[in-house]
Amino acid sequence: MSDPAEGAELETPPKKTIIDAHAHIAHEDFTPRSFIDGSIDNLQTAMIARGMPIPRAKVAKMFEKKMQDGLCDTLIAEMDASNVATSILLAADFSYALKDSKLTVEECLKRHHEVKVRHGDRLEVFGGIDPRWGKDGVDLFERSLREWGFRGLKLYPPCGFSPSDPLLDPFYELCDAYGVPALVHIGPTSPVLGFATTAPFLLDDAARRFPRVRFILAHGAVSFTEECAMLCNFRPNVYLDLSAFQGAICPGGGPAAVKTVVSRGINHKILFGTDWPVFRMQADQKTYLESVTCEGGPLAAVPERDRDLIMCGNALRILGEKRTPEASLTRSA
Ligand SMILES: [Zn+2]
Repeated sequence: MSDPAEGAELETPPKKTIIDAHAHIAHEDFTPRSFIDGSIDNLQTAMIARGMPIPRAKVAKMFEKKMQDGLCDTLIAEMDASNVATSILLAADFSYALKDSKLTVEECLKRHHEVKVRHGDRLEVFGGIDPRWGKDGVDLFERSLREWGFRGLKLYPPCGFSPSDPLLDPFYELCDAYGVPALVHIGPTSPVLGFATTAPFLLDDAARRFPRVRFILAHGAVSFTEECAMLCNFRPNVYLDLSAFQGAICPGGGPAAVKTVVSRGINHKILFGTDWPVFRMQADQKTYLESVTCEGGPLAAVPERDRDLIMCGNALRILGEKRTPEASLTRSA
């Protein structure tokens, strides 16, 4: 008779690798007060309407409590608990548009580098830079790729620029040269920033002019879903991520949004992402992950090969395209 413990071990299926392609450092240093205040205004309006007039200071305190993970130790613990191998930290640059930003763009990226060094291959970083910083911004972006090993560009168009603005050309040229993607925020944000530059079709011009650059539409599963799915279908280099599936930004949000987007023939273009710590007030990473991967969940009807692509394979493929350009080798010599 065989040892039952040994048998149990044999029956355990191998753990699948999961990559969370959309996360942030949970600390207020990276998010301007005006941005947070606008989000609290929204939350408070909803709570008052539902007969829960919670004092503003209390909401702010709850929020503050969840934003004390400046070194990402809690994030790593939650990744361990939910079987996430790697998370991609997106460093948003609000410092050009919002003057109450605590850090300069360089300080923000350096802090992300320090956190990455602390946790090794558990974290990757996409550096965010507002293109209106001009040449200084371009040089900083190249430094982040060459010296700090960052793996992509993070753009936040609600700050007031189009993702196809010619100011971004030198950034996209670097993305092309280094073989790294550009992730572009799509759709809603804090009321302190506008909607005018958040629509996905604004990216089309850049996507066609830079065919070797992979563009990821952040929140494409829940914001402007029709347009995002169309771009993924008809532009070989456009992808979307599932982040913010936890919310109900569109009717039928949450797992329903995931179910809709994974049935459109674009599973080779979808990246799993959580947007940590944005939804920390409601639940932990393990709960959110299980809401997507559970039996009978939104991925249940998706073929296993596609499921693996969404949870890990697509992100690995994109990250694996990293190149070392001749130009940067010459410059650093
Ligand atoms: Zn985000």
